[in-house]
Amino acid sequence: MEFKTLPHPSPTAADARDAALADPGFGTLFSDHMVVIDYVEGKGWHNATVGPRKALSLDPASSVLHYAQEIFEGMKAYRQEDGGLALFRPEENARRFNDSADRMAMPRIPEDVFIEAVRQLVAVDRDWFPSVDGGSLYLRPFMFASEAFLGVRPAKEYKFIVIASPAGNYFKSGVPAVKIWVAQDYVRAVKGGTGAAKTGGNYAASLVPQAEAIKKGCDQVVFLDAVERKWIEELGGMNLFFVMEDGTVITPPLTGTILPGITRNSLIQLLREEGLSVREELYSIDQWKADVESGKLLETMACGTAAVVTPVGTVASPDGEFTIGSGGPGQLTSKLRERLVGIQRGIVDDSHGWVMRL
Ligand SMILES: *Cc1c(COP(=O)(O)O)cnc(C)c1O
Repeated sequence: MEFKTLPHPSPTAADARDAALADPGFGTLFSDHMVVIDYVEGKGWHNATVGPRKALSLDPASSVLHYAQEIFEGMKAYRQEDGGLALFRPEENARRFNDSADRMAMPRIPEDVFIEAVRQLVAVDRDWFPSVDGGSLYLRPFMFASEAFLGVRPAKEYKFIVIASPAGNYFKSGVPAVKIWVAQDYVRAVKGGTGAAKTGGNYAASLVPQAEAIKKGCDQVVFLDAVERKWIEELGGMNLFFVMEDGTVITPPLTGTILPGITRNSLIQLLREEGLSVREELYSIDQWKADVESGKLLETMACGTAAVVTPVGTVASPDGEFTIGSGGPGQLTSKLRERLVGIQRGIVDDSHGWVMRL
């Protein structure tokens, strides 16, 4: 697909941009450009442009605003040790994007077009990498139904867009352990639902329990399964791993209710290479507490693109709290985090071919 480049009439001045890049935070600063590709049923994907980032004009009847046909991805471009730029497993994001599209009755986009769109944006906004240590360019590809139509059926028109947001080190000093709240009255997903799709609605549904977690003095909420309210699923946007003292690591299985994280998949491979036995199996909230208390469980980690690998320190519920290990980052959590960040930044040998140089 040919991408047309539209010149930016007034790009951000270099000094203003560099000042912003010294402390970018997360999700509030955006680069100058965006990629837009249109889809119309019968015509397919067309009109790919790399142009100035600007507000969209939408018909108020656009079906995304009513029936929420929307999916997204979250990925990062990293500056390498040698100064070059790279993506981490972008073909996995492209594949998952299409899996999400299937579930939401949206058109698939060819994987090479998805990746090319991301590459084009990174190329045009290559001066938007944060100068801070641990910084990266967070990329947000997304697709939504743009057809103006109020009937309930899959839309016939869509837009695929990629925007970029410079991101600082998610954690400024060290990696603090998170305190998590066990969701009581809410679930995130049910079998047969949309839990495995990266769609905005899952996040909308997680906001009330997340706010409840904050009110309880926690950072994040952990969801249990919808049927028995017993099996641990995941956090609002991160997958979980439970590290046992006998060298086994448990992570909840992909049964359709949790998001198949690319970080999760990468960690499973790295753990197995460490000689640990990873078991994808159900693990209950009661077992978690019992294993922490008996000393059988050493560490719990949460993982996702934004925060990479994060220790879970304390778990709270109306029945009380329990603290994992010393409440800080465990040995394996720290080691894996360093290994993965090292691969992403070109410091550690990429024996898996996970890094795509740009
Ligand atoms: C995106 C996401 C994750 C993490 O996926 P990564 O590919 O590792 O970034 C985990 N859970 C949910 C609900 C997510 O949306």
